[in-house]
Amino acid sequence: MKAAITRKDHKVEVVDKKLRPLQYGEALLSIECCGVCHTDLHVKNGDYGDKTGVVLGHEGIGIVKEVGPGVNSLKVGDRASVAWFFEGCGHCEYCISGNETLCRSVKNAGYTVDGAMAEECIVTAKYSVKVPDGLDSAAASSISCAGVTTYKAIKVSGVKAGQWIAIYGAGGLGNLAMQYAKNVFNAKTIIIDVNDGALALAKEMGADMVINSREQDAAKIIQEKCGGAHAAVVTAVQKVAFNSAVDAVRAGGCVVAVGLPPEAMNLSIPRLVFDGIKVIGSLVGTREDLAEAFQFGAEGKVVPKTTMRPIEDINDIFEEMEQGKIRGRMVIDFGSKSA
Ligand code: NAD
Ligand code: ZN
Ligand code: ZN
Repeated sequence: MKAAITRKDHKVEVVDKKLRPLQYGEALLSIECCGVCHTDLHVKNGDYGDKTGVVLGHEGIGIVKEVGPGVNSLKVGDRASVAWFFEGCGHCEYCISGNETLCRSVKNAGYTVDGAMAEECIVTAKYSVKVPDGLDSAAASSISCAGVTTYKAIKVSGVKAGQWIAIYGAGGLGNLAMQYAKNVFNAKTIIIDVNDGALALAKEMGADMVINSREQDAAKIIQEKCGGAHAAVVTAVQKVAFNSAVDAVRAGGCVVAVGLPPEAMNLSIPRLVFDGIKVIGSLVGTREDLAEAFQFGAEGKVVPKTTMRPIEDINDIFEEMEQGKIRGRMVIDFGSKSA
């Protein structure tokens, strides 16, 4: 089967790969499609260490083709996900307290284990979340990372109905963050990006305010127009956006870090202390978060903008991502039936 693996020179190669037989608790998915997340770009560039040879992909949706012994959560024919949170240990303090993505023995698809940018993928069945009827596979693929991550980050931000939330970065994640914030949490949304095309899409999707931070001081405008945002979710891939978010929230506000530039942000200690600012990281979402995020997609509250592409385009897609040319999500099409 075809699989997209990372090479030492930071290119991705489509190779022919044979999968091993299923073990206890595993299922084989015939992949329909897999979204290309900016985290895949970090992984193939070696931003978090050398991952040469891994099959990329953690926005996978597939049909169960075979189940191994001991599997009772999935059956042949089900449609299910391959997400970044691939497996936890199931018994540590994090796994049993609703924080399973922080499990110290976690496995991540397309990073520590082979992912879903392939025609087939082996999953640990009880960690693969079923896709509800009424949600097409391309949309589900985008929700399985970009959607669940931002849905969870907004939960973590504590923003309430009618309050202002600033979302930095209007790419694959940011566009869905805007839709969850507005259509599920009933918050008022301010979208900040450096790219006019990304901002135009956010506006089209219903953003209440958009700011190009290359041209304007976003924090200053947000303080002047809204008295500061109640919360900020930062999906941008530059530390300046994280710094701006701290300046954009009002006293008592919460900044949720989601983007993963491999660098440090500046934090003014007096600003944190005098104004009671919270800065917190948020990592994807649990299986329950994903089930909820899927359901809002199935109800039409969140509609990912996706473009189907062949696997052979993968290196071009990463180049387009680096150059800021992508609107919404590029999704690798492995012959989806319901997308
Ligand atoms: P993307 O490339 O689709 O979008 C990034 C957006 O950020 C682009 O629109 C870009 O123009 C914008 N941007 C860049 N610099 C900016 C700045 N200074 N201010 C405002 N906007 C700016 O990427 P994506 O797939 O949405 O992923 C975004 C980040 O989130 C990546 O670093 C990715 O690794 C990370 N991520 C984190 C999690 C998590 O669990 N925390 C999950 C998925 C992705
Ligand atoms: Zn991702
Ligand atoms: Zn654990």
